[in-house]
Amino acid sequence: MENKLSFYNTLTRKVEKFVPNVDGKVAMYTCGPTVYHFAHIGNLRSYICEDLLEKTLRYIGYDVKRVMNITDVGHLSSDADTGEDKMLKGAKREHKTVMEIAKFYTDAFFSDCKKLNIKTPDVVEPATNCIPEFIHMITVLLEKGYAYEAGGNIYFDTSKLEEYYVFSNQSEKELLVGVRDDVDEDENKRNKSDFVLWFTKSKFDDQELKWESPWGIGYPGWHIECSCISMKHLGEYMDIHCGGVDNIFPHHTNEIAQSESYLGHKWCNFWFHVHHLNDKSGKMSKSKGDFLTVSLLESKNYNPVVYRMFCLQSHYRKPLEFSYEVLDNMSAAYDKRVKRIGTLKRDGEVDQAKFDAYRAQFEAALCDDLNSSMAITVLYDMLKDDMSDATKFALAESFDQVLSLDLTTAHAAKEADNGVDAELEAFVLAKIEERKAAKKEKDFAKADAIRAELLEKGIVIEDTREGVKWKKA
Ligand code: AMP
Ligand code: ZN
Repeated sequence: MENKLSFYNTLTRKVEKFVPNVDGKVAMYTCGPTVYHFAHIGNLRSYICEDLLEKTLRYIGYDVKRVMNITDVGHLSSDADTGEDKMLKGAKREHKTVMEIAKFYTDAFFSDCKKLNIKTPDVVEPATNCIPEFIHMITVLLEKGYAYEAGGNIYFDTSKLEEYYVFSNQSEKELLVGVRDDVDEDENKRNKSDFVLWFTKSKFDDQELKWESPWGIGYPGWHIECSCISMKHLGEYMDIHCGGVDNIFPHHTNEIAQSESYLGHKWCNFWFHVHHLNDKSGKMSKSKGDFLTVSLLESKNYNPVVYRMFCLQSHYRKPLEFSYEVLDNMSAAYDKRVKRIGTLKRDGEVDQAKFDAYRAQFEAALCDDLNSSMAITVLYDMLKDDMSDATKFALAESFDQVLSLDLTTAHAAKEADNGVDAELEAFVLAKIEERKAAKKEKDFAKADAIRAELLEKGIVIEDTREGVKWKKA
């Protein structure tokens, strides 16, 4: 099939035409969440943009298989294998076992994803399910001379590689600052950039999850899980690997090091990275105490899908700053469009030529390095165009396969929620217009009478900056 999608490949540092290993099929892998706490809306930005990529691929005709891990073991507070064990930290905080914490936050993660219309990947695999696979890969790496034992732990020897820093043109020294940001250096490492494949001599006496291994009772390092889980389900060749930009180094760099040393050939051709969502004080982080979650947005009466739209209105390769002001504007823009779509008459003839032309424009925007804000502009433009309601409705339905903003269902759902039918809505809107005209003519008595008439029918109206709003009393 024709390969028409281009996106930025971190490996080659340019926007490239995507060509899969097997024509028409895509093997895609996503680094999953570390389930020791709720996902913050920054994490979810990454998953929204990855969902956009997956749905775009499907929309333009690829058969996609997407795999995601759940990190429930091995991720320490520094990505460079030092600091506190994140899962243990969560368990201690809540006086629960690690597995209880993992279950609770895995469920919470998928519940957030559902609210944001993020499709669940075809395969989801927790790291703790795959211990034999990790042990196998580490055994092969030891046999091939890419790994060594020191102080009881097994390390990957980065000096054995021709090129370790595959993603970056930064100097080794600069990158090492990232590795050593915790200052807690591991003296067993032969090279500063080496990383742990298997811990047996853990500094955590209370480590809850431990398994037998040829090197003693212990647990896997974080990086090994993504290499093994992706190969288990996608085989030796992968098309696209995704994550947030913080995953580039060391996590993805280490994944490539161990996977390609194990396989003896190139592993994944395209690396897709999403830039961070920041708040005013900087990068969002789960360890910062109070952080922004989907539930928090809901408690403030925001529809989570509006946050999805907030993300889609910006480009995945630009850092994005969260603000309630922008979210408010997004909310108003969203309500306006879903209302417009909700009142379109669905039966009638679809103008096929118009449909095809707009669909082509929509696809072209997405195929241009996933320009989702341009794709939304195509939606706005088509709603304003002079064509049948049925054509507009069919296009909105089609675009929503990728945008996933409940474009054709949100309005009816809201009405059902409010217990409002179309007839009542039409009546109220006509009265609001009449009141607006009365106010313009300075006939305030009439304006007040209309307000009172509506109140008698159980409708409250409110004058706001965005115009007149109304609800059932
Ligand atoms: P974690 O649960 O910490 O393993 O992270 C899950 C995903 O969220 C990873 O792909 C991270 O790269 C990504 N991520 C972490 N922080 C942010 C952020 N502030 N904005 C966007 N993505 C993020
Ligand atoms: Zn990963």
